[in-house]
Amino acid sequence: MVLIMVSDARLSTYPGCFVYFGQMSSKCFFLDRDGTLNVDYDFVHKPQEWTWCDGAMDALVLLKQKGFKLAVITNQSGIARGRFSMDQVNRLHGWVNDQLQNDLIEIDGFYVAPWHPDYHDGKDPALLDERKPGTVLFERAATELGISFDGSCMAGDKISDLLPAMHLGIKPYLIRSRFYTEEIGNWCRQHHILIFDRLLDAVEYELSAD
Ligand SMILES: [Mg+2]
Repeated sequence: MVLIMVSDARLSTYPGCFVYFGQMSSKCFFLDRDGTLNVDYDFVHKPQEWTWCDGAMDALVLLKQKGFKLAVITNQSGIARGRFSMDQVNRLHGWVNDQLQNDLIEIDGFYVAPWHPDYHDGKDPALLDERKPGTVLFERAATELGISFDGSCMAGDKISDLLPAMHLGIKPYLIRSRFYTEEIGNWCRQHHILIFDRLLDAVEYELSAD
């Protein structure tokens, strides 16, 4: 069988050919937010609370130049706890993309899990699977953004960021933040996961190995 990737419907009449009309899937660099893109001060939800991690914006520019889509996957239990609203988080993420406009890039999607098991009475338990280490938001991003997990990466500062990536066949990288412990380091070494001080260092490594 011959597989032709086209967007031209006229080719569909070629005998013996299977023609695929969809878009080719893109590789994606999935990103944790707090502790990976911005300094984690706990419950960051306003622009004035956002401090970019050193080199993070440069990392995003490099990834875009190399054809990666960018999807942020973030647990924001502060919403379930009533500390802030999804609207505030969405406005913050809009502001983040405004910041990136100077570099002519943007993050393609922000996927937010607003839930927490201690604040979930009366709600559908399945919604908790949106929280990392669940894979639901990764799969939603893949569908909405046309992403192939093959060739994609994930960077985060907690094991719960890396587990869903490993489950889906996404290459994981650990970024050191204030949550880093020797135990986490040992776990990463056991699973052959590389550890970097900054997202930018992980991205430069990934692109050099490409
Ligand atoms: Mg984090």
